[in-house]
Amino acid sequence: MTTNTQGDESLIIVMQKDADAADVDHVVERLHDIGAEAHISVGRFRTVIGALGDRQVIQQLPWEAFPGVERAVPVLKPFKFVSRDFQQEDTVVDVGGTLIGGRRFAPIAGPCAVESREQLFASAEAVVKAGARVLRGDAFKPRTSPYSFQGLEEKGLELLAEAREEFGIPFVAEAVDPRDVELVSGYADIIRVGTRNMANFTLLSELGKQSRPVLLKRGLTATIEEWLNAAEYIYKEGNHDIILCERGIRTFETATRNTLDISAVPVIKGLSHLPIIVDPSHSGGRRDLVAPLTRIAVAAGADGFMIDVHPAPETALVDGAQAILPAEFATLMDDVRALCSVMGFEL
Ligand code: PEP
Ligand code: MN
Repeated sequence: MTTNTQGDESLIIVMQKDADAADVDHVVERLHDIGAEAHISVGRFRTVIGALGDRQVIQQLPWEAFPGVERAVPVLKPFKFVSRDFQQEDTVVDVGGTLIGGRRFAPIAGPCAVESREQLFASAEAVVKAGARVLRGDAFKPRTSPYSFQGLEEKGLELLAEAREEFGIPFVAEAVDPRDVELVSGYADIIRVGTRNMANFTLLSELGKQSRPVLLKRGLTATIEEWLNAAEYIYKEGNHDIILCERGIRTFETATRNTLDISAVPVIKGLSHLPIIVDPSHSGGRRDLVAPLTRIAVAAGADGFMIDVHPAPETALVDGAQAILPAEFATLMDDVRALCSVMGFEL
């Protein structure tokens, strides 16, 4: 871990169990007086205030002498508010009643891209029947080649919104450009940041300012620390509903599309309170690997998964080789139910 070498310091002010609102307000006011930011996290047992500001000024005040303050601890990690130091309890993201995190497991499935109403509805109907709780499907597809299918854009979002009505399930879709955030958030229940955009700080800040939960994929070559810093960009702007997604990283291995870094799941669990899910489809890039990678993700303690399911993968405009069939998804869900019960996850 690198420590913060700039002038900014972050301090976690842990309030006593019986501290009241006036005690919290008093600390927050004082922080504002000295030009520092205050981020409040109300936990089940106590409130924690994250202070961010100039190191010299912030460290001078005797925080532990304030009424209701139990202790003040500096955070040395570069990411502050997404760290377990700041919040010990797991974040539970509420997507219109569907809970993700805190041992609530979220199966997310659907086509990689929305291609037509028939294709989307066939996939949605099948995944909902098999037990998916969130639908995936993209309207904007940033592709490696500029000549490949780029998505149906707003029409795709309209179809996803229709599928939500028809099958009673929220959906996640990617926003590729900061200029599209308003459009996508007008339709989608969760906005996804793709791997190629994990370090697009303009996009991250924009997503931090709107109210939809964000599904943040790990960058192709990002370290866990860089990934958590990306999450911090969103959190710091005020949006605390962030779900991380491990989707495989670039390694020297060519047998798979990417290498699923399964260690990231328990490592993130230790470092951060945010939920983490796994994308076995984009990790392996192969249909035959989806089931084993999903099972290992559940066993590693992931809070959910996101899987490409296509009614006719051989006709898919995007990522056909990694899409599984609806029947394969249903069989996999039986394994997932068994594993979730072993892991103590509520499905
Ligand atoms: C996707 O989930 O469809 C996608 C494009 O994934 P990634 O950004 O991880 O490549
Ligand atoms: Mn894809």
